[in-house]
Amino acid sequence: MSTRTITLSTTQIQALKQQLHDATICKTPPYAHYQIKTSECVITAYQSGKVVFQGNGADYYADALETKTTSPTTKKTLSQYPQCGSDEVGTGDYFGPVVVAASYVTQEDIEWLSPLGIQDSKAIDDEKIRQLGPILMEKLPHSLLILNNQKYNQIHKTNNMNAIKAKLHNQAYLHLEKKLTTLPEFCIIDQFTPKTSYFKYLQKEPNVIRQLHFETKAESKYMSVACSSIIARYVFLLSFDAMQQRYDFSFPKGAGKQVDNSIIKFVQQFGKKELENVAKLHFANTQKAGI
Ligand code: MN
Repeated sequence: MSTRTITLSTTQIQALKQQLHDATICKTPPYAHYQIKTSECVITAYQSGKVVFQGNGADYYADALETKTTSPTTKKTLSQYPQCGSDEVGTGDYFGPVVVAASYVTQEDIEWLSPLGIQDSKAIDDEKIRQLGPILMEKLPHSLLILNNQKYNQIHKTNNMNAIKAKLHNQAYLHLEKKLTTLPEFCIIDQFTPKTSYFKYLQKEPNVIRQLHFETKAESKYMSVACSSIIARYVFLLSFDAMQQRYDFSFPKGAGKQVDNSIIKFVQQFGKKELENVAKLHFANTQKAGI
C-alpha cells in the first residue's frame, strides 16, 4: 500500500473525476473537491490542488498523471534525437533466456532506419527479425544482456520478474553509458512497472541510471526502443537456435498448451534436472506438466 501526492490544476482535477466516472464517490472531506474510490486506490482531490492517491494503485495513477502534466518546456517529443531506448524479450516464453537490449539512435540514423520498416518486434515475423537484427547491431551503438535459464532460475528465488527486468535494464544502460561516454538526455524505457517501483527494485544497486523516461508501448512510439526490441528478439532467436541444436529438440515459443506437452517430452529424454537449463521454472507450465 502506498501514498502519492501530486499537484493538478482545477481543470485536471475535474477531468480526472470524469475519467473515473465508474469509481465510487465517497463523502467529501473538508477542503476537498471530492474523494473517490477505485478498485485499487482512494483518490482525494483538495481545493489546494493537491491530489492524494492511497492504495496499491497509487503509483500507477500518479505516474500516469505526472507524465501528462510535465510542463511543455521539458516535455520530450517523439522525434527528439539523439535518444536511447531499451526493451526486453523472452519474459513471456517458458523456454529460453531473457534478453534486454539498449541502443542509441541519432537524427542521422533515421534516414537509413526509416526505409527498413522498423517497428515493434512483436509486429515483425522471425524471418524479418533475422534480417534486421544484424544490420542494427552493426550500425547502432548498443548493449545487450542475456540472462540464461540456469541463472534466471537462481535469481528468481529472491527476485520477482519485474525486479529482474529492472536490474537488467539498468545494467544495459550502464554498459551503454560506458560505450558512449555519456548517455543522451532522452532515454526511454518501455515501461513494465511504474517509475517509482522501478527505482525501488534498484535500491541496493551501487550504480543507477536515473534520467529515464517511462512509457508504455514505447516500442511502437520511439525508434530507439523499437530497434532495441528487434536486437533483443534477434539475439533471443539465436539463443533459441543454439538450444535446439544442443538438445536436438524442438522447443515451442510462448507459454501455451504446446509448451506443457514439450516439457513432458523433454524431461523424458533429458531428465528433470536438465529442465532448469532451458526453462523458466516458476511458470505455471511446470506444474501443469506435472513435473
Ligand atoms: Mn517491452
